[in-house]
Parts: sequence; C-alpha cells; structure tokens
Amino acid sequence: MPELPEVETIRRQLEPLLVGRRLGRAWAFAHAKFLPALDVGPALVERVDRRGKYLLVGLDDDRELVIHLGMTGSLRVRPAGDDGDAYVRAWWAFEDERAGGEALEYRDVRRFGRLAVAEGGRYAGTLAVQGPDALDRTLDAETFWRSLRASRRAVKTQLLSQRPIAGVGNIYADEALWRVGINPARRTVTRAQAAALLDALRDVLTASLHHGGTTLTNYRDVAGREGRNQQRLEVYGQAGLPCPRCGTELRARVLDARTSTWCPSCQPR
Ligand SMILES: [Zn+2]
Repeated sequence: MPELPEVETIRRQLEPLLVGRRLGRAWAFAHAKFLPALDVGPALVERVDRRGKYLLVGLDDDRELVIHLGMTGSLRVRPAGDDGDAYVRAWWAFEDERAGGEALEYRDVRRFGRLAVAEGGRYAGTLAVQGPDALDRTLDAETFWRSLRASRRAVKTQLLSQRPIAGVGNIYADEALWRVGINPARRTVTRAQAAALLDALRDVLTASLHHGGTTLTNYRDVAGREGRNQQRLEVYGQAGLPCPRCGTELRARVLDARTSTWCPSCQPR
C-alpha cells in the first residue's frame, strides 16, 4: 500500500503535469468510491498537495479533489478517450488547448482506493482526524510523545491509525521501530524513545522518498516505474532471516490484523 514516500513521489510528478491546466469532462466507474470524480470541474488546477497518504488537487473554485490510492491505485496522464483498460476507475479530460486531447486517469485494480471532493478545506474520514504529516517539521518530539501516551494501544497500531502522525504504514513503521529498538506491541514509550522514533520515522521516509518509494508488488509512479527502496528494507517482510544488526532470527506476528516483523533481541518487550 502506498505510504508517504510513494504518494509524495507521485505528487511531485503530478504537480508540473497538472498545475495551470483545466479539468473538464469526467468519467467514473459506477461505484460510490469513484463517482465523486464527476463532481470535479470544469476547474483550473492551482496546486497539488499531500497530507499523509492523501493527494489533494486544489482547484480554483475553493474545492479539492481528494485521492487515496488504497492498495493498487495509480495516476497517469495519457491521451483522452477509452483505451480499453478495464481497471480505469475515473478520468478527467483537460480542457485547455495545450492539452492536445489528454486526460488525467485514475486506475485501480483492486478498488481499495477512493475519490472525494472537499469544499473549503472540510474533510471527512481519516483525513479529517489524522495527525500532522510525518514530514511536517512543526511536529516536535514532545507533542508526538504526548499523542502516543494518550492511547494504551500498541505503538505500531497507533502509528498505523495515522493519529499521532500521518503518512506511516506497515513498511516504514516496522523499519523505524527496529532502528530504535522498540517492540511493535509495546503500549508505553518513554519521552526519549518517542523522540528517537520520530527521528527514525523521518529518516526512513526521507530515504525512501530519495529512492522513489518502495515497490513490493503494485506501486508504480506516474511514469509507470517501480520504486527503488525495496532493496534497502532492513526488516519489513524478512521474518526468518537474520537481524542485520545482531544476527538473531527476525520474527513476524499479527498485531491488530497487520503483520509486524521485529527482532526479539533488539526490540524486547
Ligand atoms: Zn537484532
């Protein structure tokens, strides 16, 4: 599932392709998750933002097209018209003359993604309640620690909830917790641990962004390319292999319905 580095990679690529262009005629697959595509436009794209794992396409009518890529969602700009791809869930044709008959297309094989239109910065669902973006430098370690302390759930579960910090999913949570030696099932962390965890999260996210994100199976950028960060993962998905730090066999267990990988020596309970 795309997390912050993958969504930010897409945002950076989309920005020059969309800003200053007018979205016109739209089409959507007949499902409540994609029909909001039809509520967009005609409108000029003013900016392409991101909050956590959400893309926000800012329009000149005080509205935003909100895109969550789910598990297999991807975006590209291609010639307008039906291209016979059964997995396209929505498209928006560009109206301006420089477009030359192009469209922004949303494709999603497994349909875990969704589209919405937000007006005047009023959001719904996770986007409305999630914490500050992980790369938002105004979030300090003390605030992060206090928001972790506000819940008694496992630290990994809290990270995946997006409430203490937005943009972190299973891959980067496992990587960061391993780096700082915090067991994913721990229910309390010290102030020092929280500070180290925040730094580690930002480090793993930034490094992955630098390498175009992580492609395990599905993720592709706007140009259809895979990320390059998957070769750099140290523990995620590597249960049974030796810990890169101490050699102990890495373990996996299901914690609140998500598989976590950790080192029993470096990350004691
Ligand atoms: Zn270890």
